[in-house]
Amino acid sequence: MNPPRPIPRLDAENRAFWTGGAEGELRLMHCEDCKSFFHPPRLVCRNCLSEKVAPKAVEGTGVVDTFTVNYQAWMPNLEVPFVIARVAIDGAPGVFLTTNIVNCPVDDVDVDDRVRVTFEQQGDIYYPLFEKIS
Ligand SMILES: [Zn+2]
Repeated sequence: MNPPRPIPRLDAENRAFWTGGAEGELRLMHCEDCKSFFHPPRLVCRNCLSEKVAPKAVEGTGVVDTFTVNYQAWMPNLEVPFVIARVAIDGAPGVFLTTNIVNCPVDDVDVDDRVRVTFEQQGDIYYPLFEKIS
């Protein structure tokens, strides 16, 4: 059993991102003016500074852009090894999530692998992790 993940403090900016998994949705901030997605969530568009932004669900698929395998047990009971990856999110150009690739051996993960979001619930938080699409 892994130790608990650090718990983000929910606020108006990030609540949709961390709780969208309750409805099975990966929700990113989207700007109504320039039609772009951006991350991390803010109440002002990162691209055009518009305040007409709102969380919007994306498909929940993506591509492994880069990754590393962690072998160090940074905390007691932390199960190693595990994959830390940067995933490029489909339908949201320029948006990358730093996450874990789960449900497969670490040796099976490679750059350009197609992945799909899966949520790990801890209290009110749904951590978006990814698994390979086989
Ligand atoms: Zn914008």
